[in-house]
Amino acid sequence: MKLVVLGAAESGVGAAILAQKEGYEVFVSDMGSIKPRYKAMLDAHHIAWEEGHHTEANILSADEVVKSPGIPETAPMVAKLIAQGTPILSEIEFAGRYTDARMICITGSNGKTTTTSLIYHIMRKAGIDAGLAGNIGHSLALQVAEAPHSTYVIELSSFQLDNMYKFRANVAVLLNITPDHLDRYDFKMQNYVDAKMRILQNQTADDTFVYWKEDEHVPNELPKYSDPSAKCGFTDEAQPGSAGYAANGTFVVNAPVHFEMPLSQLSLPGRHNLRNSLAAAIACLAAGVSPEVVRQGLSDFPGVEHRLEKAGTVNGIHFVNDSKATNVDACYCALESMTTPVVLILGGKDKGNDYAEIMPFVKQKCRALVYMGADNSKLHANFDATGLPTADTHSMRECMEHAVALAQPGDTVLLSPCCASFDLFKNMEDRGEQFKAWVKQYGEAK
Ligand code: ADP
Repeated sequence: MKLVVLGAAESGVGAAILAQKEGYEVFVSDMGSIKPRYKAMLDAHHIAWEEGHHTEANILSADEVVKSPGIPETAPMVAKLIAQGTPILSEIEFAGRYTDARMICITGSNGKTTTTSLIYHIMRKAGIDAGLAGNIGHSLALQVAEAPHSTYVIELSSFQLDNMYKFRANVAVLLNITPDHLDRYDFKMQNYVDAKMRILQNQTADDTFVYWKEDEHVPNELPKYSDPSAKCGFTDEAQPGSAGYAANGTFVVNAPVHFEMPLSQLSLPGRHNLRNSLAAAIACLAAGVSPEVVRQGLSDFPGVEHRLEKAGTVNGIHFVNDSKATNVDACYCALESMTTPVVLILGGKDKGNDYAEIMPFVKQKCRALVYMGADNSKLHANFDATGLPTADTHSMRECMEHAVALAQPGDTVLLSPCCASFDLFKNMEDRGEQFKAWVKQYGEAK
């Protein structure tokens, strides 16, 4: 059997190593350049590879192809494979063949990384031998090949789900479905919805499907699916038949087992994180974790880097790094969760933002605004009329000097910029790291 891997990054290289271990003839091809780290891994396993082009004859002779989720079906080589009927799998589907570990899978348009990390945190706390895979951590295939676990917690994108057919999730979490990546789905929302719903395909009566009942799409889609898993739909507030919700200051889970804790003990702030915490609690309880460990895990989860991440308190000023907030919606969630006056850092590469959504929170919660971008004119046009003190800045250092000058003890300086970072930074991680580095230095200098 010959397996061709298209795309040599984390998932592709993992799939190649697993395939070779399982006795396939393996060939790896990448149109772009392959990172030195991955070349070294392929060479160490004596796996043939090419970069910068695809050798058609070598690829079209494959019995099966594992395709990186980043490559669209319209890519010429993929279109040819589809036309000749060659099966195309995702790395997760391929790896799933070679393990009978328990699979806890998380998808959604927003909140995947947070919820996956939270579930993993609780699983590890429970002493379960869990591996973290999918969009975060090491590829599932590499772990199955070289460091197998008895449980995997897997973050799944719709692109991975597109090429999953027989894979079965023992616990499947579908957080929400809002328009995203429609360019990859023929600009048809239903195609994207169908991809996300694949997370529950092949579930049996022993499995659990966890979903947010107030999502616009998921509850309407469910009747189309006959998979017999236990359905645990949670809501923000108490509702008949809800598997979990928040009411009167209490976090309540009703299914699969009853569980309660004070809302004030949840480590993650904000309404969106309440949903992520409910999803994680229900998933972990369904996987047999004890309520006591779930309670501990929900309260001591340190959070995920660059997502409402606490970056320290200096001179009584709290610093929060939400660099991942590259759109207005994410900033809305961040402001909603704030319980102190805020000095808000906004700006960067604007993707056609409409700031009206956050205006009420800005007026209600912000003490001052600091603009940080190559071009701040749109921010001036939108926010100067609020009458709040503002500062116009073009680097992290300049921005932070103004932010602390505008803040008072007890305030929060919040980096939740509504914009991409490419105008001044390498990426959103670089922006968040520069923010944290500045806070650290500020703390040391005090
Ligand atoms: P993903 O991995 O799906 O991109 P993250 O966990 O990285 O999601 O969160 C990205 C942003 O999405 C967060 O900063 C927050 O603004 C928003 N978000 C997180 N969870 C949810 C949710 N359950 N519903 C809506 N928005 C959310």
